Amino acid sequence: MKEKEYSRRRFISQYTTRCAALMGTMFLLYGCGDDEKPAAKEENTDKPATDRCNDFTGVSEEELDKRKRMAYVDKSQIPDNSCGNCGLYIPWEDQTACGGCLLFKGPVREEGHCIQWVAKTA
Ligand code: SF4
Repeated sequence: MKEKEYSRRRFISQYTTRCAALMGTMFLLYGCGDDEKPAAKEENTDKPATDRCNDFTGVSEEELDKRKRMAYVDKSQIPDNSCGNCGLYIPWEDQTACGGCLLFKGPVREEGHCIQWVAKTA
């Protein structure tokens, strides 16, 4: 009987610890949220830009925020590291100087860069 209680106690303790660790990880990944979240989910419905590289029509504030958090810049400051040679870059079919990124929506420039840059593999 004692052993059974100990096992239950141990299970609850481990379960609680793992839940706390999971919640901490989720907090770090997604932030704690704030009162502005519902408004931030509204889509950007500004007039469409004529330049596709600057066209953020339909890109949500949340996606724009992701771009900021990853410190995306239109012009890389690191030689030989840019979106054009990043493994997460998605070139557009029309082969313009812009494309997409697997990590967030909206256009990125071939010469752009962010902290998630990874080398392209063959
Ligand atoms: S991960 Fe960063 S560097 Fe790579 S394509 Fe996306 S924005 Fe560019």
